[in-house]
Amino acid sequence: MRVPLIAGNWKMNLDCRQGADLVKSIKVAVQETEVEVAVCCPSILLGCIGESVENTSIKLGAQNMHWEDAGAFTGEISPDMLLEAKVHYVIIGHSERRQIFSETDEMVNKKVAKAIVKGITPIMCIGETLAEREADETFSVLKRQLEEGIKGISPEEVKTLVIAYEPIWAIGTGKTATPEQANEAIGYIRSELEKLYGNQVSEEIRILYGGSVKPDNATEIMNCEEIDGALVGGASLKADDFIGIIQF
Ligand code: 13P
Repeated sequence: MRVPLIAGNWKMNLDCRQGADLVKSIKVAVQETEVEVAVCCPSILLGCIGESVENTSIKLGAQNMHWEDAGAFTGEISPDMLLEAKVHYVIIGHSERRQIFSETDEMVNKKVAKAIVKGITPIMCIGETLAEREADETFSVLKRQLEEGIKGISPEEVKTLVIAYEPIWAIGTGKTATPEQANEAIGYIRSELEKLYGNQVSEEIRILYGGSVKPDNATEIMNCEEIDGALVGGASLKADDFIGIIQF
């Protein structure tokens, strides 16, 4: 039985006080739900938001991580630094990092592998551009990103992974993939996982949908058979919207 996960990706938004207020406002709703809830905040806020989520069931997440333990990597954050901040999840390979910061499948793979070894659960993002969808390349792009992203990871290790299917054309655009499109893509990802790791593993891995999830479309998205949760950007920044999604 896969427990649904709703994770807020704050991206580069909110300060310590705003984040703490937001956590305070969603606490009760989180207590009353069966779904797992996480907030992924900017690295500099991990200490502050970590304190806010203490003694709640809200999990703390980061938005990026380097694959090395330490060294001359100016501006980067190591896995141990995230562990010190009591981080549970780390988003890896978000399309904004791939597109704006030139992250490659190889880098995503190193980060995912390292996070798993360190006991931090990666939320690995994959998804196609509009041009790729229109050229009928959605499945081949997803296959490549999936296979490259989890290359060399054993079945035992890969089970802890969370995958987020985020079609790039649906991120921050107000355009949501239809539930059928999201369900189909996620079903495809699961079938590829089954080919790689067998049925037991593919049935355990949670696959989320991300891209313009709002309170008014959360129900139909969450009701899709293949979809195990949501990675929420804009709507995770406002307590009422995020609560609306949690209570889908
Ligand atoms: P929006 O919900 O703002 O479209 O962002 C989705 C996203 O990128 C989550 O990681």
